[in-house]
Amino acid sequence: MKYDRVYNFSAGPSILPEEVLESVRDNLLNYEGSGMCVMEMSHRSKVFQKIIDEAEQDLRDLMGIPENYKVMFIQGGATLQFAMLPMNLMKNGVADYIVTGNWSKKAYNEAKKYGKINLVASSDDRNYSYIPDCSDLPISEDADYVYICENETIHGTTYQQLPNTKGKILVSDQSSMFLSKPCNVADYGVIYGGVQKNIGPAGMTIVIMREDLIREDLPTYVPTYMSYATHANNGSMYNTPNCWSIYVCGQVFKYLKKIGGLEAMAKMNEEKAKILYDFLDESKMFNGTVEKEFRSLMNVPFVTASKETDAEVVAATKAAGFDNLKGHKSVGGLRASIYNAMPKEGVIALVEFLRNYEKENYKG
Ligand SMILES: *Cc1c(COP(=O)(O)O)cnc(C)c1O
Repeated sequence: MKYDRVYNFSAGPSILPEEVLESVRDNLLNYEGSGMCVMEMSHRSKVFQKIIDEAEQDLRDLMGIPENYKVMFIQGGATLQFAMLPMNLMKNGVADYIVTGNWSKKAYNEAKKYGKINLVASSDDRNYSYIPDCSDLPISEDADYVYICENETIHGTTYQQLPNTKGKILVSDQSSMFLSKPCNVADYGVIYGGVQKNIGPAGMTIVIMREDLIREDLPTYVPTYMSYATHANNGSMYNTPNCWSIYVCGQVFKYLKKIGGLEAMAKMNEEKAKILYDFLDESKMFNGTVEKEFRSLMNVPFVTASKETDAEVVAATKAAGFDNLKGHKSVGGLRASIYNAMPKEGVIALVEFLRNYEKENYKG
């Protein structure tokens, strides 16, 4: 491959579009005639203001974000949002959570520190291998919001249909599916995601929040940095933001617009995922772990019959130039994360490798 790169199936931080990396490289020492690198630039400079403004506008164009939603670039990772959301959204002190895997479980456990949190649905009974029916849940009368993780990065499940929240605000962690397909922002109160899964360099989270949910009258214990009003009122520059991540994410947004936006991206992602899932369905040696209806387009976990074989396959793939296929420690097996930037050829090559591996090693 060009530059001797491997096919990187990491769940995050993860693969970025080569074209974006090349542009970043070409502008590294002197960003567009500014005489300096974006890493060296004041966040208060005109040049950087243009970078952040364009990043926001390009994201708005890509997702069709309505005027009455704020876009915020916040540090602390998606994990900080697990606390920031309940701190800011709780008025009645009640929220309903749907737990479908590690990430929604972490968010649920964190939120419990700040109010009465109801577990309204869970797929724990079958090892988080599916998404529960969310069409008629016991949503609490006084719930301030309903929380989901829309794509569980570790378990490889995704919602086919958003839950019926019975009029309550929907909050969605989209970290590992952000910009993978079109999204109707108006269906949500809040969409957020750590950017290191499907967009850019680690160290930043994008929060898209309906304006009327941003409050100034928060409990005094809420740190200034953890109030959304702080970020919304200061154009994500109350303090020094993650300038580098904002810049690279902005470059990715421009790239996505250029290749046809989220419709085109969704089509490519569906094609890629189908190649891998079709193989898993026909294979005797490798089996997908998720119920078909709820399979993620982004994270594809699969197993062989034993842990030993799993480990052998991981080692063999690595030696052949396919990296980071080891499953998460809480699930085991293998996992191929096939985010936006993974080229179709990467998936085809992986399937070819696994097919040959099976031919040579599977004893039945
Ligand atoms: C990775 C991930 C997180 C945590 O992200 P950090 O930025 O490391 O805090 C949260 N939710 C989902 C769905 C993730 O994939």
